[in-house]
Amino acid sequence: MKVRPLFVVALLGAAAWGTRVAWVRAHRAARNVAWTTCPFVGAPIITMLNDIAPWDTFATRVHEEKHAEQCRVLGPVKYRLRSLTSAGKLSVEAPAYCAAAAARLTVDPDSQYASDRLHTDMIEGMSDLVDSSAIKAALLKECPAIATQPRRTRGRTRRVSGR
Ligand SMILES: [Zn+2]
Repeated sequence: MKVRPLFVVALLGAAAWGTRVAWVRAHRAARNVAWTTCPFVGAPIITMLNDIAPWDTFATRVHEEKHAEQCRVLGPVKYRLRSLTSAGKLSVEAPAYCAAAAARLTVDPDSQYASDRLHTDMIEGMSDLVDSSAIKAALLKECPAIATQPRRTRGRTRRVSGR
């Protein structure tokens, strides 16, 4: 049998990519602390696990409420179809991440931290589907007032005052 080097390289590349996608999905699944189900019968159902940091609970709730609203507006078929393509995913996730960032700002006026979490959370959450430049572009379009703020990380142990 004649070995075709390009074919072998393509095969190895595909295998490596598949492994990476599987790893990212498994990794993300472990961090998935909240999700919204859009059933064919009945109202959307929001599930939130208990191990969400106290200072992230409100933002997470608002993110999922946005998906519940999208489920009600689009209906279960259209809503589920959006999750099949990266463009569709971006169109439902960008508004949800922006709503969460706006909610975070109502209890914590640190706009640079809000901007950092907006970008970091969405890029981490969608890393296996969309590259970071497409995510940044989507956020700039969806909520420019927050997305254009400089980004600054801060220790996760710092609690939001009054909570
Ligand atoms: Zn989401």
